[in-house]
Amino acid sequence: MNKQLEKLISLHDLDVMIADLGRKDIIKREMEMGLQSDDALEELKKLREEYCGSINRKWRGLYNQLTRHYGNAVVPALMGRCAGCLTRLPTAVCSDPERNMKIHTCPTCGRIIYWAD
Ligand SMILES: [Zn+2]
Repeated sequence: MNKQLEKLISLHDLDVMIADLGRKDIIKREMEMGLQSDDALEELKKLREEYCGSINRKWRGLYNQLTRHYGNAVVPALMGRCAGCLTRLPTAVCSDPERNMKIHTCPTCGRIIYWAD
């Protein structure tokens, strides 16, 4: 798989975890429990910065723009469709065995697409 694509997927996973932890953190605080999740959140944020630093500017810019717009920038292709907007992706792209070797974006919504297989 394309290294930049791999990193973009990891960055997306991290963002999901950070958002999730953020929500749990609020619940935890309401329950007046310890600060453990704060530490985990800090660690994840640090890791996120590391990932951001290793993704080239062009893709990082697109990622941030898509995240602001849709909330999720990187989506898998499911049954030949973009999982973000359900547009059917070009057959030539889907049937290419090297499809994950390069970063593809959805022709309709522009999200970054990968094939999980
Ligand atoms: Zn799409």
